[in-house]
Amino acid sequence: MKLAHGVRYKCSKCDSVIHYKKNISFPSRDSYAPIEVQSFVHPLDRAALAALKKVPGLSHAIKFMMKFSYEKYVRVSELADDVRVTQRTYGYIHDMVQEASKVMGIPAPSVYINQHPVPNGYTTCVEQPVIVLTSGLVEMCDDDELYVAISHEVGHIKCEHVLYHMLAHFLGNFPDLLGITKLITAGVNLTLLEWYRKSELSADRAAIIITNNKPKVISLLMKLAGGTGKLAGMVDYADFISQYKEWEELIKGVSARMIYRFSTLFRSHPFPIVRAHEIEIWADMKDQCEQVHPGECV
Ligand SMILES: [Zn+2]
Repeated sequence: MKLAHGVRYKCSKCDSVIHYKKNISFPSRDSYAPIEVQSFVHPLDRAALAALKKVPGLSHAIKFMMKFSYEKYVRVSELADDVRVTQRTYGYIHDMVQEASKVMGIPAPSVYINQHPVPNGYTTCVEQPVIVLTSGLVEMCDDDELYVAISHEVGHIKCEHVLYHMLAHFLGNFPDLLGITKLITAGVNLTLLEWYRKSELSADRAAIIITNNKPKVISLLMKLAGGTGKLAGMVDYADFISQYKEWEELIKGVSARMIYRFSTLFRSHPFPIVRAHEIEIWADMKDQCEQVHPGECV
């Protein structure tokens, strides 16, 4: 994806700005044929989500959350506190969202930029999904990596992850009434987090499908692990990938495995090196498959 300087498109009559964009060229496609979630969802995500749906009381928790208009509360907060991306405001981000949504065959969500130094992106709201990107993420990423981050979030919407993500955040932030609420919700929350981590692997795959840019998916993961925009020209992603093998050796054995399991227990995301390893394997497998069945694979 080549980017040139930004261009301001103005109305020829009143001179007001209609669209501010960069000259983005997205990967060329023959068509926007519908993409089935089952063709890319990670098997661990599929299995964990099925198990999650069997957790007693979870559907009641979701109904409770919706009853108290959690979604409306979130939307009101975003409107009040963040900057909404439109054609005229951060128009090139708007273009990225439109294109990624078109590839996945879903209506384009709203996008907001939140002022926060920690690089992060998340999607919230089910009825009318909202993607939130922090200013730290926009500052850290080059344009290709930002497209990867947006595509990852669009992937979450396509996979219908957002409802359970919201529930995980809701339970995680629920006030600890009389010191017992956390105890009651802890089991469900750990189960949710277990699935949450797996859902990230599916969203990474969606990012590959949309961007067709494995190096940039991995460089984004690398930056999230310990990269900066300033040092971006001084990295070798093969070095980063090689960390996985060393790490895998270190966690062999029962006690090391238990320490690893405990260290991930409360995380919403898998370790970046695990995500990079997973996505590299899957992207290579997808490429090989496409050579055998051209045009048939996602
Ligand atoms: Zn995600």
